[in-house]
Amino acid sequence: MEKHLKRLPEELLSLICVSGDIAGHLGFRAYLVGGFVRDLILGVKNFDLDIAVEGDGILFAEALAEKLNAKIISHKRFGTATVTLKPHLKLDIATTRKEFYPEPGSLPVVNKGSIKDDLFRRDFTINTLVIAINKDNFGQLMDLFKGKSDILARKVRILHNLSFIDDPTRILRAVRFQKRYDFQIEPNTLKRLKEAVKLKMLFAIEPQRLRDELILMLKENEPLRALKRLEELAGLSFINPDLKLSGKTEKFLGSCQDQVKWFKSKFSQHRHLDSWLVYLAGLLSGLDLEAVRAVCERFVFRKGEAKRILEFFLLRDKLLVKLSLPGLRPSSVFHLLEPLSYEVIILLKAAAANKFAHVNMENFFHAYNGTAIYLRGHDLKGLGIAPGPHYQKIFRRVLNAKLNGKVKTVQEELDFVKKLKNAGTVARFGKENSNG
Ligand code: ATP
Repeated sequence: MEKHLKRLPEELLSLICVSGDIAGHLGFRAYLVGGFVRDLILGVKNFDLDIAVEGDGILFAEALAEKLNAKIISHKRFGTATVTLKPHLKLDIATTRKEFYPEPGSLPVVNKGSIKDDLFRRDFTINTLVIAINKDNFGQLMDLFKGKSDILARKVRILHNLSFIDDPTRILRAVRFQKRYDFQIEPNTLKRLKEAVKLKMLFAIEPQRLRDELILMLKENEPLRALKRLEELAGLSFINPDLKLSGKTEKFLGSCQDQVKWFKSKFSQHRHLDSWLVYLAGLLSGLDLEAVRAVCERFVFRKGEAKRILEFFLLRDKLLVKLSLPGLRPSSVFHLLEPLSYEVIILLKAAAANKFAHVNMENFFHAYNGTAIYLRGHDLKGLGIAPGPHYQKIFRRVLNAKLNGKVKTVQEELDFVKKLKNAGTVARFGKENSNG
Protein backbone atom coordinates (compact mmCIF):
# COMPACT_ATOMS: atom_id res chain seq x y z
CA MET A 1 0.00 0.00 0.00
CA GLU A 2 3.02 2.27 0.30
CA LYS A 3 2.60 3.41 -3.29
CA HIS A 4 -1.05 4.36 -2.65
CA LEU A 5 0.05 6.39 0.35
CA LYS A 6 2.88 8.08 -1.53
CA ARG A 7 0.34 9.39 -4.02
CA LEU A 8 -1.47 11.33 -1.30
CA PRO A 9 -1.07 15.10 -1.07
CA GLU A 10 2.15 15.97 0.79
CA GLU A 11 0.21 17.48 3.69
CA LEU A 12 -1.66 14.23 4.35
CA LEU A 13 1.32 11.97 3.87
CA SER A 14 3.47 13.88 6.32
CA LEU A 15 0.61 13.89 8.83
CA ILE A 16 0.40 10.10 8.54
CA CYS A 17 4.18 9.74 8.97
CA VAL A 18 4.21 12.01 12.04
CA SER A 19 1.31 10.01 13.51
CA GLY A 20 3.23 6.75 12.99
CA ASP A 21 6.35 8.22 14.61
CA ILE A 22 4.46 9.46 17.65
CA ALA A 23 2.75 6.09 18.10
CA GLY A 24 6.20 4.44 17.91
CA HIS A 25 7.67 6.78 20.55
CA LEU A 26 4.79 5.99 22.90
CA GLY A 27 5.20 2.25 22.35
CA PHE A 28 1.81 1.99 20.58
CA ARG A 29 0.85 0.62 17.17
CA ALA A 30 -1.24 2.85 14.93
CA TYR A 31 -3.27 2.04 11.83
CA LEU A 32 -5.24 3.87 9.20
CA VAL A 33 -8.68 2.28 9.14
CA GLY A 34 -12.22 2.45 7.82
CA GLY A 35 -13.48 5.00 5.34
CA PHE A 36 -10.09 6.56 4.69
CA VAL A 37 -8.54 3.29 3.48
CA ARG A 38 -11.67 2.40 1.50
CA ASP A 39 -11.53 5.73 -0.28
CA LEU A 40 -7.79 5.47 -0.81
CA ILE A 41 -8.32 2.26 -2.76
CA LEU A 42 -11.25 3.72 -4.65
CA GLY A 43 -9.23 6.82 -5.50
CA VAL A 44 -11.82 9.04 -3.80
CA LYS A 45 -10.53 12.16 -2.01
CA ASN A 46 -10.95 11.93 1.75
CA PHE A 47 -9.38 14.28 4.28
CA ASP A 48 -10.89 12.60 7.33
CA LEU A 49 -8.21 10.30 8.66
CA ASP A 50 -9.43 7.44 10.84
CA ILE A 51 -6.64 6.16 13.06
CA ALA A 52 -6.95 3.16 15.37
CA VAL A 53 -4.38 2.86 18.14
CA GLU A 54 -3.35 -0.31 19.92
CA GLY A 55 -2.46 1.30 23.24
CA ASP A 56 -4.08 4.49 24.49
CA GLY A 57 -5.79 6.49 21.74
CA ILE A 58 -6.30 9.56 23.89
CA LEU A 59 -2.69 9.75 25.01
CA PHE A 60 -1.64 9.38 21.39
CA ALA A 61 -4.10 12.09 20.27
CA GLU A 62 -2.86 14.48 22.95
CA ALA A 63 0.77 13.97 21.94
CA LEU A 64 -0.13 14.47 18.27
CA ALA A 65 -2.16 17.61 18.95
CA GLU A 66 0.70 19.05 20.98
CA LYS A 67 3.26 18.31 18.28
CA LEU A 68 1.08 19.83 15.55
CA ASN A 69 -0.31 22.63 17.69
CA ALA A 70 -3.79 21.45 16.73
CA LYS A 71 -7.20 21.48 18.40
CA ILE A 72 -8.28 18.34 20.20
CA ILE A 73 -11.60 17.11 21.54
CA SER A 74 -11.42 13.87 23.54
CA HIS A 75 -14.14 11.54 24.75
CA LYS A 76 -12.40 9.72 27.59
CA ARG A 77 -15.35 7.37 28.16
CA PHE A 78 -15.11 6.03 24.61
CA GLY A 79 -11.32 6.25 24.28
CA THR A 80 -11.75 8.47 21.21
CA ALA A 81 -10.54 11.90 20.17
CA THR A 82 -10.70 14.23 17.20
CA VAL A 83 -7.68 16.31 16.25
CA THR A 84 -8.52 19.14 13.86
CA LEU A 85 -5.73 20.77 11.88
CA LYS A 86 -7.80 22.79 9.44
CA PRO A 87 -11.54 22.90 8.80
CA HIS A 88 -11.11 20.33 6.04
CA LEU A 89 -8.41 18.22 7.66
CA LYS A 90 -9.04 16.16 10.77
CA LEU A 91 -8.09 12.92 12.41
CA ASP A 92 -10.56 10.68 14.23
CA ILE A 93 -8.58 8.63 16.69
CA ALA A 94 -9.86 5.59 18.57
CA THR A 95 -8.34 3.05 20.90
CA THR A 96 -8.81 -0.36 19.29
CA ARG A 97 -11.71 -2.17 20.91
CA LYS A 98 -13.74 -5.31 21.17
CA GLU A 99 -17.52 -5.11 21.13
CA PHE A 100 -20.39 -7.45 21.62
CA TYR A 101 -24.13 -6.93 21.58
CA PRO A 102 -25.81 -8.39 24.67
CA GLU A 103 -29.20 -8.00 22.99
CA PRO A 104 -30.31 -7.25 19.43
CA GLY A 105 -30.46 -3.53 18.78
CA SER A 106 -28.93 -2.65 22.15
CA LEU A 107 -25.77 -0.63 22.60
CA PRO A 108 -22.68 -2.82 22.45
CA VAL A 109 -20.57 -3.67 25.47
CA VAL A 110 -17.11 -2.25 24.74
CA ASN A 111 -13.72 -3.45 26.00
CA LYS A 112 -10.14 -2.78 24.93
CA GLY A 113 -9.00 -5.15 22.18
CA SER A 114 -6.45 -5.65 19.43
CA ILE A 115 -6.70 -4.23 15.93
CA LYS A 116 -8.12 -7.59 14.83
CA ASP A 117 -10.86 -7.39 17.47
CA ASP A 118 -11.57 -3.88 16.25
CA LEU A 119 -12.20 -5.14 12.75
CA PHE A 120 -14.70 -7.78 13.85
CA ARG A 121 -17.05 -5.08 15.18
CA ARG A 122 -17.25 -3.23 11.88
CA ASP A 123 -20.21 -2.95 9.57
CA PHE A 124 -19.05 -4.04 6.12
CA THR A 125 -16.00 -5.67 4.60
CA ILE A 126 -15.27 -2.51 2.60
CA ASN A 127 -14.62 -0.76 5.93
CA THR A 128 -12.33 -3.39 7.42
CA LEU A 129 -9.10 -2.60 5.61
CA VAL A 130 -6.20 -1.49 7.72
CA ILE A 131 -2.86 0.09 6.86
CA ALA A 132 -0.09 0.03 9.45
CA ILE A 133 1.73 3.36 9.88
CA ASN A 134 4.46 2.66 12.46
CA LYS A 135 7.92 3.12 10.95
CA ASP A 136 8.81 -0.59 11.00
CA ASN A 137 5.78 -1.73 8.99
CA PHE A 138 4.67 1.50 7.30
CA GLY A 139 2.21 0.86 4.49
CA GLN A 140 1.51 -2.79 5.30
CA LEU A 141 -2.08 -3.74 4.46
CA MET A 142 -4.16 -6.00 6.67
CA ASP A 143 -7.19 -7.41 4.89
CA LEU A 144 -8.87 -9.99 7.15
CA PHE A 145 -12.25 -10.00 5.42
CA LYS A 146 -11.25 -9.69 1.74
CA GLY A 147 -12.39 -6.11 1.84
CA LYS A 148 -10.14 -5.06 -1.02
CA SER A 149 -11.69 -7.52 -3.44
CA ASP A 150 -15.18 -6.36 -2.36
CA ILE A 151 -14.18 -2.74 -2.96
CA LEU A 152 -12.88 -3.62 -6.40
CA ALA A 153 -15.98 -5.74 -7.14
CA ARG A 154 -18.09 -2.84 -5.75
CA LYS A 155 -19.94 -4.93 -3.18
CA VAL A 156 -21.38 -4.07 0.22
CA ARG A 157 -21.05 -7.18 2.38
CA ILE A 158 -21.68 -7.74 6.09
CA LEU A 159 -19.15 -9.61 8.22
CA HIS A 160 -21.64 -12.04 9.76
CA ASN A 161 -25.28 -12.98 9.34
CA LEU A 162 -26.55 -11.28 12.49
CA SER A 163 -24.96 -7.95 11.67
CA PHE A 164 -28.24 -6.10 10.92
CA ILE A 165 -29.91 -7.67 13.94
CA ASP A 166 -27.09 -6.56 16.22
CA ASP A 167 -27.19 -3.06 14.86
CA PRO A 168 -30.10 -2.12 12.56
CA THR A 169 -28.60 1.32 11.83
CA ARG A 170 -26.39 -0.66 9.44
CA ILE A 171 -29.47 -0.98 7.18
CA LEU A 172 -29.21 2.76 6.54
CA ARG A 173 -25.43 2.55 6.25
CA ALA A 174 -25.63 -0.22 3.62
CA VAL A 175 -27.99 1.85 1.51
CA ARG A 176 -25.84 4.97 1.95
CA PHE A 177 -22.63 3.27 0.77
CA GLN A 178 -24.44 1.48 -2.04
CA LYS A 179 -25.80 4.67 -3.49
CA ARG A 180 -22.76 6.83 -2.80
CA TYR A 181 -20.41 4.55 -4.70
CA ASP A 182 -22.84 2.84 -7.05
CA PHE A 183 -22.11 -0.51 -5.39
CA GLN A 184 -24.35 -3.54 -5.09
CA ILE A 185 -25.53 -4.99 -1.80
CA GLU A 186 -24.36 -8.59 -2.30
CA PRO A 187 -27.13 -11.26 -2.23
CA ASN A 188 -26.62 -12.74 1.26
CA THR A 189 -26.29 -9.26 2.77
CA LEU A 190 -29.49 -8.23 1.01
CA LYS A 191 -31.27 -11.31 2.30
CA ARG A 192 -30.13 -10.62 5.89
CA LEU A 193 -31.08 -6.97 5.57
CA LYS A 194 -34.59 -7.93 4.49
CA GLU A 195 -34.87 -10.40 7.37
CA ALA A 196 -33.97 -7.67 9.84
CA VAL A 197 -36.58 -5.39 8.27
CA LYS A 198 -39.19 -8.13 8.57
CA LEU A 199 -38.33 -8.55 12.21
CA LYS A 200 -39.03 -4.81 12.60
CA MET A 201 -35.55 -4.21 13.93
CA LEU A 202 -35.73 -0.55 12.86
CA PHE A 203 -38.42 -0.10 15.48
CA ALA A 204 -36.36 -1.81 18.16
CA ILE A 205 -33.58 0.74 18.57
CA GLU A 206 -33.25 4.12 20.11
CA PRO A 207 -34.61 6.75 17.69
CA GLN A 208 -31.55 8.97 18.30
CA ARG A 209 -29.28 6.33 16.76
CA LEU A 210 -31.48 6.17 13.68
CA ARG A 211 -31.56 9.96 13.54
CA ASP A 212 -27.76 10.16 13.43
CA GLU A 213 -27.60 7.69 10.55
CA LEU A 214 -30.48 9.39 8.75
CA ILE A 215 -28.63 12.69 9.01
CA LEU A 216 -25.52 11.07 7.51
CA MET A 217 -27.66 9.79 4.66
CA LEU A 218 -29.14 13.24 4.12
CA LYS A 219 -25.66 14.74 4.07
CA GLU A 220 -24.82 12.78 0.92
CA ASN A 221 -24.60 14.76 -2.30
CA GLU A 222 -27.79 13.35 -3.77
CA PRO A 223 -29.72 11.84 -0.88
CA LEU A 224 -32.82 11.20 -2.96
CA ARG A 225 -31.22 8.13 -4.52
CA ALA A 226 -30.51 6.64 -1.11
CA LEU A 227 -33.95 7.56 0.23
CA LYS A 228 -35.62 5.81 -2.68
CA ARG A 229 -33.57 2.69 -2.09
CA LEU A 230 -34.27 2.84 1.63
CA GLU A 231 -37.99 3.04 1.00
CA GLU A 232 -37.76 0.14 -1.43
CA LEU A 233 -35.90 -2.07 1.07
CA ALA A 234 -37.24 -1.01 4.44
CA GLY A 235 -40.09 1.46 3.96
CA LEU A 236 -40.04 4.80 5.76
CA SER A 237 -42.65 4.02 8.40
CA PHE A 238 -39.91 3.78 11.02
CA ILE A 239 -39.72 7.57 10.67
CA ASN A 240 -43.49 8.13 10.62
CA PRO A 241 -46.31 5.64 9.98
CA ASP A 242 -47.70 7.73 7.10
CA LEU A 243 -44.42 8.61 5.47
CA LYS A 244 -44.05 7.63 1.82
CA LEU A 245 -42.00 8.91 -1.07
CA SER A 246 -44.98 9.96 -3.16
CA GLY A 247 -44.40 11.37 -6.65
CA LYS A 248 -44.98 14.83 -5.21
CA THR A 249 -42.46 14.38 -2.39
CA GLU A 250 -39.89 12.95 -4.80
CA LYS A 251 -40.34 15.91 -7.10
CA PHE A 252 -39.96 18.31 -4.21
CA LEU A 253 -36.82 16.56 -2.95
CA GLY A 254 -35.40 16.77 -6.48
CA SER A 255 -36.10 20.46 -6.44
CA CYS A 256 -34.45 20.76 -2.98
CA GLN A 257 -31.35 19.09 -4.43
CA ASP A 258 -31.28 21.62 -7.28
CA GLN A 259 -31.63 24.54 -4.88
CA VAL A 260 -28.95 23.26 -2.50
CA LYS A 261 -26.57 22.87 -5.46
CA TRP A 262 -27.44 26.38 -6.63
CA PHE A 263 -26.75 27.79 -3.18
CA LYS A 264 -23.49 25.90 -2.78
CA SER A 265 -22.25 26.98 -6.18
CA LYS A 266 -22.79 30.63 -5.32
CA PHE A 267 -22.49 31.14 -1.59
CA SER A 268 -20.76 28.21 0.09
CA GLN A 269 -17.69 30.38 0.74
CA HIS A 270 -19.72 32.83 2.79
CA ARG A 271 -22.25 30.79 4.63
CA HIS A 272 -22.69 27.19 5.75
CA LEU A 273 -25.99 25.55 4.85
CA ASP A 274 -27.31 22.52 6.74
CA SER A 275 -28.39 20.79 3.57
CA TRP A 276 -29.46 17.68 5.52
CA LEU A 277 -32.07 19.78 7.27
CA VAL A 278 -33.43 21.02 3.94
CA TYR A 279 -33.73 17.40 2.79
CA LEU A 280 -35.33 16.24 6.01
CA ALA A 281 -38.03 18.91 5.76
CA GLY A 282 -38.37 17.96 2.09
CA LEU A 283 -38.82 14.30 2.99
CA LEU A 284 -41.49 15.19 5.54
CA SER A 285 -43.17 17.73 3.28
CA GLY A 286 -46.26 15.57 2.65
CA LEU A 287 -47.04 15.24 6.38
CA ASP A 288 -49.13 17.66 8.38
CA LEU A 289 -47.64 20.00 10.97
CA GLU A 290 -48.51 17.82 13.96
CA ALA A 291 -46.90 14.75 12.40
CA VAL A 292 -43.74 16.75 11.66
CA ARG A 293 -43.69 17.99 15.23
CA ALA A 294 -44.01 14.40 16.44
CA VAL A 295 -41.06 13.31 14.27
CA CYS A 296 -38.93 16.15 15.68
CA GLU A 297 -39.81 15.10 19.21
CA ARG A 298 -39.39 11.35 18.77
CA PHE A 299 -35.97 11.69 17.14
CA VAL A 300 -34.96 14.38 19.64
CA PHE A 301 -33.75 16.92 17.14
CA ARG A 302 -32.04 19.89 18.74
CA LYS A 303 -34.22 22.88 19.48
CA GLY A 304 -32.69 25.03 16.75
CA GLU A 305 -33.03 22.21 14.22
CA ALA A 306 -36.67 21.49 15.07
CA LYS A 307 -37.39 25.22 14.96
CA ARG A 308 -36.06 25.54 11.42
CA ILE A 309 -37.91 22.44 10.23
CA LEU A 310 -41.22 23.51 11.76
CA GLU A 311 -40.86 27.10 10.58
CA PHE A 312 -41.03 25.91 7.00
CA PHE A 313 -44.28 24.04 7.61
CA LEU A 314 -45.78 26.92 9.56
CA LEU A 315 -44.95 29.68 7.11
CA ARG A 316 -44.67 28.16 3.65
CA ASP A 317 -48.20 28.80 2.33
CA LYS A 318 -48.44 32.34 3.63
CA LEU A 319 -44.95 33.34 2.52
CA LEU A 320 -45.21 31.79 -0.92
CA VAL A 321 -48.36 33.81 -1.62
CA LYS A 322 -46.66 37.02 -0.48
CA LEU A 323 -43.42 36.38 -2.33
CA SER A 324 -45.30 35.64 -5.56
CA LEU A 325 -46.81 39.12 -5.79
CA PRO A 326 -45.50 41.02 -8.80
CA GLY A 327 -43.85 44.37 -8.09
CA LEU A 328 -42.90 43.57 -4.49
CA ARG A 329 -40.39 46.14 -3.29
CA PRO A 330 -36.91 44.93 -2.31
CA SER A 331 -37.48 46.22 1.24
CA SER A 332 -40.63 44.08 1.53
CA VAL A 333 -38.78 41.00 0.29
CA PHE A 334 -36.00 41.72 2.76
CA HIS A 335 -38.32 42.03 5.75
CA LEU A 336 -40.15 38.82 4.78
CA LEU A 337 -37.01 36.74 4.40
CA GLU A 338 -34.46 38.28 6.72
CA PRO A 339 -35.86 36.71 9.93
CA LEU A 340 -35.71 33.22 8.38
CA SER A 341 -32.84 30.74 8.32
CA TYR A 342 -31.17 30.06 4.99
CA GLU A 343 -32.45 26.48 5.14
CA VAL A 344 -36.04 27.72 5.23
CA ILE A 345 -35.45 30.15 2.36
CA ILE A 346 -33.93 27.37 0.25
CA LEU A 347 -36.97 25.22 1.03
CA LEU A 348 -39.29 28.06 0.00
CA LYS A 349 -37.33 28.49 -3.18
CA ALA A 350 -37.65 24.77 -3.90
CA ALA A 351 -41.38 24.95 -3.24
CA ALA A 352 -42.04 28.08 -5.29
CA ALA A 353 -43.71 27.55 -8.64
CA ASN A 354 -44.06 31.27 -9.29
CA LYS A 355 -41.44 33.16 -11.31
CA PHE A 356 -41.65 36.33 -9.19
CA ALA A 357 -41.11 34.39 -5.98
CA HIS A 358 -37.93 32.87 -7.45
CA VAL A 359 -36.57 36.19 -8.59
CA ASN A 360 -37.36 37.77 -5.22
CA MET A 361 -35.51 35.06 -3.32
CA GLU A 362 -32.52 35.12 -5.66
CA ASN A 363 -32.34 38.88 -5.27
CA PHE A 364 -32.46 38.47 -1.52
CA PHE A 365 -29.40 36.21 -1.56
CA HIS A 366 -27.51 38.22 -4.17
CA ALA A 367 -28.28 41.79 -3.26
CA TYR A 368 -30.46 42.58 -0.27
CA ASN A 369 -29.09 40.23 2.32
CA GLY A 370 -26.27 41.77 4.34
CA THR A 371 -27.31 45.27 3.32
CA ALA A 372 -26.44 47.63 6.14
CA ILE A 373 -26.70 51.34 6.62
CA TYR A 374 -23.85 53.68 7.55
CA LEU A 375 -25.72 55.87 10.02
CA ARG A 376 -25.36 55.35 13.75
CA GLY A 377 -26.96 56.96 16.80
CA HIS A 378 -24.41 59.77 16.97
CA ASP A 379 -25.26 60.75 13.38
CA LEU A 380 -28.91 61.21 14.32
CA LYS A 381 -27.90 63.13 17.40
CA GLY A 382 -25.78 65.35 15.17
CA LEU A 383 -28.93 66.15 13.20
CA GLY A 384 -30.55 67.37 16.40
CA ILE A 385 -32.75 64.33 16.96
CA ALA A 386 -32.97 63.46 20.63
CA PRO A 387 -32.12 59.82 21.40
CA GLY A 388 -34.97 57.42 22.04
CA PRO A 389 -36.67 54.28 20.79
CA HIS A 390 -37.74 56.13 17.62
CA TYR A 391 -34.13 55.78 16.40
CA GLN A 392 -34.99 52.19 15.42
CA LYS A 393 -37.85 53.39 13.24
CA ILE A 394 -35.62 55.94 11.55
CA PHE A 395 -32.93 53.34 10.89
CA ARG A 396 -35.52 51.01 9.41
CA ARG A 397 -36.75 53.74 7.07
CA VAL A 398 -33.17 54.42 5.95
CA LEU A 399 -32.58 50.71 5.42
CA ASN A 400 -35.76 50.42 3.34
CA ALA A 401 -34.67 53.38 1.24
CA LYS A 402 -31.28 51.79 0.77
CA LEU A 403 -32.78 48.42 -0.23
CA ASN A 404 -35.09 50.18 -2.67
CA GLY A 405 -32.14 51.94 -4.27
CA LYS A 406 -33.12 55.44 -3.14
CA VAL A 407 -29.97 56.11 -1.10
CA LYS A 408 -26.44 54.83 -1.46
CA THR A 409 -23.82 57.00 0.26
CA VAL A 410 -23.53 58.29 3.85
CA GLN A 411 -24.43 61.75 2.65
CA GLU A 412 -27.56 60.45 0.92
CA GLU A 413 -28.54 58.64 4.11
CA LEU A 414 -28.09 61.88 6.09
CA ASP A 415 -30.09 63.86 3.53
CA PHE A 416 -32.84 61.24 3.67
CA VAL A 417 -33.13 61.59 7.48
CA LYS A 418 -33.13 65.40 7.18
CA LYS A 419 -36.09 65.11 4.80
CA LEU A 420 -37.91 62.82 7.26
CA LYS A 421 -37.26 65.38 9.97
CA ASN A 422 -38.45 68.32 7.90
CA ALA A 423 -41.59 66.46 6.86
CA GLY A 424 -42.45 65.91 10.53
CA THR A 425 -42.08 62.13 10.26
CA VAL A 426 -39.41 61.97 12.95
CA ALA A 427 -41.60 63.93 15.36
CA ARG A 428 -44.50 61.55 14.60
CA PHE A 429 -42.27 58.54 15.38
CA GLY A 430 -41.39 60.16 18.71
CA LYS A 431 -45.07 60.70 19.56
CA GLU A 432 -46.02 57.17 18.58
CA ASN A 433 -43.39 55.86 20.98
CA SER A 434 -44.44 58.07 23.87
CA ASN A 435 -48.08 56.96 23.33
CA GLY A 436 -46.82 53.36 23.56
P1 ATP B 1 -17.82 8.41 5.62
O1 ATP B 1 -17.01 8.52 4.37
O2 ATP B 1 -19.27 8.56 5.40
O3 ATP B 1 -17.30 9.22 6.76
P2 ATP B 1 -16.95 6.20 7.17
O4 ATP B 1 -16.71 4.77 6.76
O5 ATP B 1 -15.75 6.97 7.62
O6 ATP B 1 -17.66 6.88 5.97
P3 ATP B 1 -18.24 6.69 9.69
O7 ATP B 1 -19.71 6.75 9.92
O8 ATP B 1 -17.43 7.91 9.90
O9 ATP B 1 -18.10 6.17 8.21
O10 ATP B 1 -17.64 5.50 10.54
C1 ATP B 1 -16.24 5.23 10.63
C2 ATP B 1 -16.01 3.73 10.67
O11 ATP B 1 -16.61 3.19 11.85
C3 ATP B 1 -16.63 3.00 9.51
O12 ATP B 1 -15.73 2.84 8.45
C4 ATP B 1 -17.04 1.67 10.09
O13 ATP B 1 -16.02 0.75 9.97
C5 ATP B 1 -17.25 1.97 11.56
N1 ATP B 1 -18.68 2.08 11.89
C6 ATP B 1 -19.44 3.19 11.96
N2 ATP B 1 -20.70 2.90 12.31
C7 ATP B 1 -20.75 1.56 12.46
C8 ATP B 1 -21.77 0.65 12.83
N3 ATP B 1 -23.02 1.06 13.07
N4 ATP B 1 -21.45 -0.64 12.90
C9 ATP B 1 -20.19 -1.04 12.67
N5 ATP B 1 -19.20 -0.26 12.31
C10 ATP B 1 -19.44 1.04 12.21
